[in-house]
Amino acid sequence: MGKALIIGCGGVASVAIHKCCQNSEVFEEICIASRTKSKCDALKEKLAPTTKTKITTAQVDANNVEELIALIEKEKPGVVLNLALPYQDLTIMDACLATKTHYVDTANYEPEDTAKFEYSWQWAYRERFEKAGITALLGSGFDPGVTGVFCAYALKHEFDEINYIDILDCNGGDHGYPFATNFNPEINIREVSAKGSYWEDGHWVETEPMEIKRVYNFEGVGEKDMYLLHHEEIESLALNMPGIKRIRFFMTFGQSYLTHLKCLENVGMTSIEPIMYEGKEIVPLQFLKAVLPDPSTLGPRTKGKTNIGCIFQGKKDGEEKTYYLYNICDHQESYREVGSQAVAYTTGVPAMIGAMMVLTGTWNKPGVHNIEEFDPDPFMDALNTWGLPWKENRHPVLVD
Ligand code: NDP
Repeated sequence: MGKALIIGCGGVASVAIHKCCQNSEVFEEICIASRTKSKCDALKEKLAPTTKTKITTAQVDANNVEELIALIEKEKPGVVLNLALPYQDLTIMDACLATKTHYVDTANYEPEDTAKFEYSWQWAYRERFEKAGITALLGSGFDPGVTGVFCAYALKHEFDEINYIDILDCNGGDHGYPFATNFNPEINIREVSAKGSYWEDGHWVETEPMEIKRVYNFEGVGEKDMYLLHHEEIESLALNMPGIKRIRFFMTFGQSYLTHLKCLENVGMTSIEPIMYEGKEIVPLQFLKAVLPDPSTLGPRTKGKTNIGCIFQGKKDGEEKTYYLYNICDHQESYREVGSQAVAYTTGVPAMIGAMMVLTGTWNKPGVHNIEEFDPDPFMDALNTWGLPWKENRHPVLVD
């Protein structure tokens, strides 16, 4: 069918690349390009003997637009799948514009020197992508990603109007370390140490970090503490869900994680302000990342399940209605299949599916779009086919 250029070769990319190689009818060719080419080569060596997908590799600095343009012109992919870090979103979008190539990512742009993520920077490309006749699909991971597809599906098939959405992200996995993060530690800690916020009656309500706590009993996991966080899909869903009154995002954290995080914050280790250390400038959070376990090594140690989904309240045919759509994913099963734990798996599978939707032309909408703006049905089918089957509950316990 076509060729994808995948940028980045970390935890999430590794899963997406495994999945592209399982789906070689669509991904006849992939080029894996990242900062450290040896990681791309190692993955190619592992996968090439068992897949029909032709794999090439390249070194690229994704902060450098000219390098990216040269690479895209050489490889001529049908789609670029950005699985590097959120810092590189705009340079990669610039290169896609210059070469008229479709673009897919899993996380919205974040400037490296400010812990702030919002869509405004990427939405500013809307008109230019539309004029160039190319599609940018933003946020094709799990959250954002599948959560947005769940919302579009619920709106299309279950409701006339959705008024309340609670997105619940539960990781019931245990890796046995007192403190480690399940994806890039720098991005993860920036996200969870920021102030919380939710959308209500047309505006943002801001909270202190971890100020709002609830307890929820998750199928496949059990009872967990969860905390309200700011999360990027709230921003786009607030625009794209007609009649919405409130959207909240909750993530589970264990007490050990929170105690360590508080201590690290208190001693200044989560700061992104550079400091001088022995004559050299270092960023404390980047140093912390270097001493923490690499998330890609957690796979063999992590046991348990994730359960991520959305609880909806709204109206159908004049009646009040509730509906819960979710996925349960097992860490050890993910590891057996692709050598990664479930947090990388639940992100990498939808990244491959998003790239497939765009590469095959199933989703073809020139401009810059969030995932809930597309027809959810083919994506929902693909989740069942490619390892993230979803479940429904028409009488869920609601979050107060
Ligand atoms: P990793 O740190 O494991 O991987 C990032 C990769 O990007 C590494 O291979 C790294 O190279 C490469 N990279 C970084 N900077 C550059 C650069 N300048 N040029 C080229 N390559 C570069 O991160 P994850 O795999 O955990 O996360 C990947 C993305 O997925 C992130 O944007 C994250 O926010 C997002 N994500 C989204 C989720 C969702 O549900 N939507 C959930 C989890 C993550 P090197 O190997 O040299 O370090």
